[in-house]
Amino acid sequence: AKAHVVVVGGGFGGATAAKYLHLLDANIQVTLIEPKAKYITCPGSNWLFAGLTGLDQLTVDYQALQDKYGIKLLVDRVSSLDAGQRRLRLAGGQSVSYDRLIMSPGIDFRWDAMAGYDQAAAEQFPHAWQAGPQTLMLARQLQAMPDGGVVLIVVPADPYRCPPGPYERVSMMAYWLKQYKPRSKILILDAKRSFSKQALFEAGWKKHYGYGTANSMIEWHSLADNPLLELDKQNRVLTSEFGDRFRGDVLNIIPPQSAAHIALQQGLADSTGWCPVRPLTGQSLFNEFIHVIGDAAHYAPIPKSAFAANSEAKACALAVTSLLNQTPVPEAHWLNTCYSLIAPDHGISVAGVYKLDAANVIAPVKGAGGVSPRIDAQVAAAEADYTRAVYRNLIADTFG
Ligand code: FAD
Repeated sequence: AKAHVVVVGGGFGGATAAKYLHLLDANIQVTLIEPKAKYITCPGSNWLFAGLTGLDQLTVDYQALQDKYGIKLLVDRVSSLDAGQRRLRLAGGQSVSYDRLIMSPGIDFRWDAMAGYDQAAAEQFPHAWQAGPQTLMLARQLQAMPDGGVVLIVVPADPYRCPPGPYERVSMMAYWLKQYKPRSKILILDAKRSFSKQALFEAGWKKHYGYGTANSMIEWHSLADNPLLELDKQNRVLTSEFGDRFRGDVLNIIPPQSAAHIALQQGLADSTGWCPVRPLTGQSLFNEFIHVIGDAAHYAPIPKSAFAANSEAKACALAVTSLLNQTPVPEAHWLNTCYSLIAPDHGISVAGVYKLDAANVIAPVKGAGGVSPRIDAQVAAAEADYTRAVYRNLIADTFG
């Protein structure tokens, strides 16, 4: 009988794994399980705040995976897993058995991080950290804000999905506000002391949004020693440990995160809330027949990005086909790039190449990767074009 590999989660990690399993070994039967018939990408979703895209342009489906690669799609949610029997149960009642399981279920939120901010509050103060209705809600709130209003963006400590994402969001909101509500302000309330591509973001904000001057549209506050403790929903006020109060017209609270619920429920995460794996194969430390990739897994120092999930998926697919065919698992190299727009004609990027070091730990390859070179207008414009091209290529490689 053909080996059967089941992939849970049709995001960047899962869709890539399903496609590349088939490309690497067409004899393997691949089933992809995902509750949504269509997937809205988080990458590109910040551009919506600048009016540069819409949800339609960020939506993909699984038709190509089914038609071109013979992947069987089950539009359903995994509700539980019997790891001993290697069998999954779906919310719809069906049960599915597997020889190997690849899980890329993404993230869930830690709702206990700030008093007053829970799942219900997120319907009023969107995180927009899973693209879709939350993104639209936040965009509408921004559009409805009076000129001279204040946007508060609350950013968690590492690790979280998409390290530069909050700062790209700030840039895109500033681009829109500058045109339509130029007296407004964006305050970033950050649990960190520094952030991804900080020097490049700050140089871009200086150039476009007056950063560092009294008239700056953007202010960044590190609250690493003075964490936010409470949200007063009625007055839209956040209070910190030392009693500082921040009032906003629009509140975008991005909570700390963990691996998705299904991974926690099945005991695949450790006390950090993320799933530890053997990096070469992605096998869970808790079950050798279950591989975990993408944001849910602990692949640090590789950041949690769609590009990285795609790269982890390819290495994992190669490992799974090797294990099924009883051939040695080849050495892996993982790649990441994160591109961000500061304005439509100003992009910045960071890239990294990773491999296992002598101690079998993931480490950056010295001399490979880095950030955008010193930005002049021409480089910035080229980087903006690359930002859009990388998005298109990543979609084509994952879902096409
Ligand atoms: P996901 O893409 O979240 O996919 C997980 C899937 O699993 C979901 O579709 C979910 O429905 C499914 N699932 C969950 N539970 C179950 C279950 N029980 N049964 C079945 N299915 C289940 N990355 C970049 O590389 N470039 C960018 O420019 C970029 N921009 C970003 C901007 C924003 C605003 C945000 C929030 C993120 C951005 N990212 C970017 C990060 C990127 O979105 C994530 O890193 C990526 O989606 C991770 O892929 P994944 O497969 O781990 O999870």
